[in-house]
Amino acid sequence: MSSERTFRRGDQGPAVAEIRSKLAVLGLVPDEERPQGPLSAVFDDLTDRAVRAFQQERGIRVDGIVGPTTYHALDEARWRLGDRILFYVPARLMAGDDVAALQQRLLDMGFDCGRVDGLFGVETEQSLREFQRNVGVVADGTCGPATFKALNQLTRTVVGGAPHAMRESEAINRAGPTLAGKLVIVDPGHGGSDHGVAGGPLHEDDLMYDLASRVEGRLTATGSSAFLTRGPDRQEGSGPSDADRAGFANAAGADLLISLHVEGHPNPAASGATTYFYGNDRYGHHSAMGLRFASLVQREICARTDLVDCRSHPMNWDLLRRTRMPAVRIETGYLTNPGDAARLGDPAFRDVLAEAIVAAVQRLYLPPDQDAETGFLRIPELRA
Ligand SMILES: [Zn+2]
Repeated sequence: MSSERTFRRGDQGPAVAEIRSKLAVLGLVPDEERPQGPLSAVFDDLTDRAVRAFQQERGIRVDGIVGPTTYHALDEARWRLGDRILFYVPARLMAGDDVAALQQRLLDMGFDCGRVDGLFGVETEQSLREFQRNVGVVADGTCGPATFKALNQLTRTVVGGAPHAMRESEAINRAGPTLAGKLVIVDPGHGGSDHGVAGGPLHEDDLMYDLASRVEGRLTATGSSAFLTRGPDRQEGSGPSDADRAGFANAAGADLLISLHVEGHPNPAASGATTYFYGNDRYGHHSAMGLRFASLVQREICARTDLVDCRSHPMNWDLLRRTRMPAVRIETGYLTNPGDAARLGDPAFRDVLAEAIVAAVQRLYLPPDQDAETGFLRIPELRA
């Protein structure tokens, strides 16, 4: 199936049949129900409901549409630990529920493989080798039959604490209480021929580039470095993918990633600011520092502006999942809401937003006893 295509209610054909068979494996639609034979099927109401239920469970946007994100999630969901041999493939990480199950087992036994994200990365390989050495299996970092056997024979002994959460906060504490020397990736959403949400004369890609530049300027003034993931140009072709943006931040060894977007909705009454961090209810896991950073961003924005507080939420998007540092995606309002659009169109308002975001970054690194009252931290105080 082409990863470019999307499927929704009313579509039919072999690709829909494939989607339905994946949903059937997960028990979300009955297996026997194939209205038009095995090679063709209709994306009917039942399929629509099943897709929405799946999206809800997986922490991806619930719209009933099977695009690349939902398709890949469906593909990953079918794997059970032991179904296939797992190993580290640097260029294209193996992904699936079996990897997540392995990571959960490793963490439960005290082997720190980072976070449970269902991606077989270098940390998963290292902790798997550590486990193999401990149980006397050849420490090759490959999860094959001997390792499955060892995993199954071991009683699950849950150790205290969550090593990944402790490690994340240790890294923040080690980094010290100032912004000097930090590297922050600021990611204006969309770009290229993708302009994002439109509201009257305003476009998401331009507005978010402008906001990103304001954030960048303030961060630089505090002694930290900031990189933007794209330029201002609206050239032909698509902008960087979310996986590209995450890869850029990982390769740069960034301390934080801040992705900037606005929302759009057919109902013009929908309004407000929302911040997302990495989390996956299915895997029962979220990034502890992502949650903390998202809460700080949300708090500062709502303390300094009159945007409606739509709170912070865990999401399983590639940008949040594939980044190795705390990462948030901020939806800074609804461009389809007249009030939010008027605010976002005002450069002075975007300055306030930028100040709120940088204050949240600073608070993330402040020891709790040095934390000033929300909404009152000013840029000069942030200087190292
Ligand atoms: Zn966007």
